[in-house]
Amino acid sequence: NAAAKPPPTPSPLRFSKFFQSNMRILVTGGAGFIGSHLVDKLMENEKNEVIVADNYFTGSKDNLKKWIGHPRFELIRHDVTEPLLVEVDQIYHLACPASPTNVIGTLNMLGLAKRVGARILLTSTSEVYGDPLIHPQEESYWGNVNPIGVRSCYDEGKRVAETLMFDYHRQHGIEIRIARIFNTYGPRMNIDDGRVVSNFIAQALRNEPLTVQAPGTQTRSFCYVSDMVDGLMKLMNGENTGPINIGNPGEFTMIELAENVKELINPKVEIKMVENTPDDPRQRKPNITKARELLKWEPKIKLKDGLPLMEEDFRLRLGVPRNN
Ligand code: NAD
Ligand code: UDP
Ligand code: UDP
Repeated sequence: NAAAKPPPTPSPLRFSKFFQSNMRILVTGGAGFIGSHLVDKLMENEKNEVIVADNYFTGSKDNLKKWIGHPRFELIRHDVTEPLLVEVDQIYHLACPASPTNVIGTLNMLGLAKRVGARILLTSTSEVYGDPLIHPQEESYWGNVNPIGVRSCYDEGKRVAETLMFDYHRQHGIEIRIARIFNTYGPRMNIDDGRVVSNFIAQALRNEPLTVQAPGTQTRSFCYVSDMVDGLMKLMNGENTGPINIGNPGEFTMIELAENVKELINPKVEIKMVENTPDDPRQRKPNITKARELLKWEPKIKLKDGLPLMEEDFRLRLGVPRNN
């Protein structure tokens, strides 16, 4: 009876793990927005060697240009839906497009973690709570996801990824960590992928109307990327599997966000109400009690302080100088 067997010991740890000094760390999706900030932080520690695997689907080498050629850094063009053979101590698994390849990529990274005895962290999402019926969302809530809706591929993909993580943990004794990331913003965000903060900032800089999707009273809670990276690293290096919410509990309606961006960047810009997509969650705010207690983590940067930092980066990338 397989269920009665104790979990097998993970495969022998890499040599460097015995000395706890050097760490070889894989970051999948490391050329992306959050991943590249995580890489910056990991590279600050001279004992870390960092390997990024990314297929540049939404990310870019540009985000990592300061590390290319560095002796402790390696960039591999690789699609995580294909098996990957590397020897590492930790895996931050961020690679994920908004499609089901999520699941296969996670399965491969779990197989890798099992083979080499690495600890693996999955960046899951607040979307696992769907259109939540409890507010704020705490980790014990199972969520309210429409399985056949237009957003389901991403949400259900992450839910299956979480299931696989726990199955590998129970069956093979893999050390897992699951972060449920809430809306994150900051420099290097994709300019044109339609996320609300990047849309509003780009629109304000281009002097185009800010497109608030109806009704505009829906809420989100936005976490600045440096706080996010700090939370992910505390989770990875702590003792808790999670899932743990990582996000900023400061909650705003989309109308409030538009007004904030307008006031900060372009007081003359128009705010326009446009049609929304189906199944848009009406409210979202993390309960971060677990992160506070178990990780001693909480976000430090308020939205009004984070937006100007992002504005700087967007001005440079869009070529809109401040005196414009
Ligand atoms: P991003 O699109 O900037 O980064 C994802 C990276 O993964 C990109 O560099 C992309 O090229 C790469 N990638 C995609 N598919 C791949 C594949 N098959 N093989 C290899 N690389 C692949 O997005 P992000 O905002 O930095 O998100 C990072 C992680 O955090 C994702 O797992 C995402 O689901 C999760 N997350 C982000 C947010 C947010 O607000 N940004 C919220 C919740 C969860
Ligand atoms: N895998 C990988 N790198 C590794 C080990 C495994 O990408 O170093 C992939 C492997 O190709 C497989 C998946 O991870 O598709 C799951 O591996 P596991 O050993 O758990 O399952 P099995 O191969 O026994 O089905
Ligand atoms: N949104 C908006 N205008 C935009 C883009 C998005 O009002 O130009 C709204 C969207 O309807 C949603 C919220 O902003 O209610 C957050 O959307 P995003 O896609 O950034 O994140 P997610 O829905 O995944 O939380």
